[in-house]
Amino acid sequence: MQTIKELLKIGPGPSSSHTFGPMRAAQDMLASAPEAKRFDITLFGSLALTGKGHLTDEILKKTLKGKTVEIRFDWKTPQEHPNTMTITATNPDGSTLTKTYVSIGGGKIMIDGKMPQSAKDIYPHTTLDEIQAYCKKNYLRLDEYVTQIEGKEIDVYLAKIYKAMLNSVKKGLSKTGRLPGKLHLDRVAYALFESAQTCDSQADQDALLLQSYAYAASEQNASGGTVVTAPTMGSCGVLPSLVYHYTIDKQMPKKTILNGLKVAGLIGNLIQENATISGAKAGCQAEVGAACAMAAAFCASCDRMSNEQIECAAEIGLEHHLGLTCDPVMGYVMIPCIERNAVASTRAVDAARLAKYLRNVKKNRVSFDMVVKTMNLTGKKLPMELKETSLDGLAVVVMENGRYGHDPIQKEAAAAKENHLSAKPDQKQEGIQDMENQADPAASTSPASF
Ligand code: SF4
Repeated sequence: MQTIKELLKIGPGPSSSHTFGPMRAAQDMLASAPEAKRFDITLFGSLALTGKGHLTDEILKKTLKGKTVEIRFDWKTPQEHPNTMTITATNPDGSTLTKTYVSIGGGKIMIDGKMPQSAKDIYPHTTLDEIQAYCKKNYLRLDEYVTQIEGKEIDVYLAKIYKAMLNSVKKGLSKTGRLPGKLHLDRVAYALFESAQTCDSQADQDALLLQSYAYAASEQNASGGTVVTAPTMGSCGVLPSLVYHYTIDKQMPKKTILNGLKVAGLIGNLIQENATISGAKAGCQAEVGAACAMAAAFCASCDRMSNEQIECAAEIGLEHHLGLTCDPVMGYVMIPCIERNAVASTRAVDAARLAKYLRNVKKNRVSFDMVVKTMNLTGKKLPMELKETSLDGLAVVVMENGRYGHDPIQKEAAAAKENHLSAKPDQKQEGIQDMENQADPAASTSPASF
């Protein structure tokens, strides 16, 4: 398992896999072919289907500013990983260099099938069961365990993450107006924050304030602002909302917050190690579900709960998101993403509270490791239409109800899906397998060039 620095990163929204990862891919290619004047990029799978809504094309053009950039969206040619892209750089002498990148989630990329050199495993343990046993034997809290493995400099790194999280909420609360894109959504974080001031009960006020913070960071993300992958950008409102709440409303010391971030990072790392944090691989359970588990562990740590109670909080936070699909309307990280972050932030508080008392009255039968394993298995069984392709779920129902005009690429993809679904049952099965597992030699790509 790698350092939690690889998990918690600061970068441009709205998507760690569809914006941050492709940006790093373009930077890598730029470093590999510094003389190149032309870059031909092909986005496959989920990157092709939701790349426009996720601003993938925008970040690629921005990163390669001053160069000639051609981008093709090929959602027909199946790839092993749904977030695959190729970049071909052409040098002034006509020679070319092509690399294949896979954006595996949280901004991490694989280059030509390999992880970059910097991504070394530093943790000797890969499950929470192993870590809990080690901590018990050595009388360590989970945050102390992280410091032991990562070294004291992790505090310096996390202090930057802390600041960036607070900023993402603060900036989001300071803005009103409309989010970019075709959904024409208004920013509502500040309005919610104002509403919280007039709530009848303290409980309502606390919950609404927290949710307004989650809206704030998520709206920053949706507008391409700077946020922290926690563990992803689509889920960047959950943990930061709690960090802001514990800092501003609860006045917790910075040291307590940093220790909470270590524990949250450890939980996110374990999910990435043993399952995935990519919505394109396992649906939203892997993004907002993982974020809720991290945030619940953060609350439990800040509230000085035991290692067992922290585990229970993380397990509850993830377990009740199992099966959650990823179906962003028109591919924008807005509906259902922003509201979902807000709901998960209060769920994290509930999970930590329940864990605190539950562990006093009964022994937990379901461990955190078990839920992570279940999430992975469930993610594999989710249909690709519900894994960040915008081909089903809310993405289809909201469009069918005529609220928004159809995006041309989404429309073409939806027509292809319709062909598959209208095939005879036995053909249908074959058709779906073809679509997911095999290259279709007859498939012609549908380029959208710039
Ligand atoms: S639905 Fe969830 S996983 Fe999908 S883009 Fe939105 S936040 Fe990310």
